[in-house]
Amino acid sequence: MPIYEYRCPRCDVYEIIRALGAAPDAEDCPTCGQPARRLISAPHLSRTNTPSSRLIDAAERSATEPDVITGGIPPSRVRSTPTYSSNPLSRKLPRP
Ligand SMILES: [Zn+2]
Repeated sequence: MPIYEYRCPRCDVYEIIRALGAAPDAEDCPTCGQPARRLISAPHLSRTNTPSSRLIDAAERSATEPDVITGGIPPSRVRSTPTYSSNPLSRKLPRP
């Protein structure tokens, strides 16, 4: 369903989702109740539900509403190096 924009004279621009052609020219503001006029705006045809647009939306949203991380810090993926050599000949070498 399309998103219609209305401008309230007291508040600001707000959006309402309505069926196509079902949005009236004026509607009461949900915040203050003043009559708000519908705006004519360009449709967002390029921002459809594609993976790239979802990624862009998530990046824009994280600027103001960052995701909260739950749980602990994931374990490090760095492999620990053995302190000794696996070569059997190195067992005969003197230890520090
Ligand atoms: Zn208002």
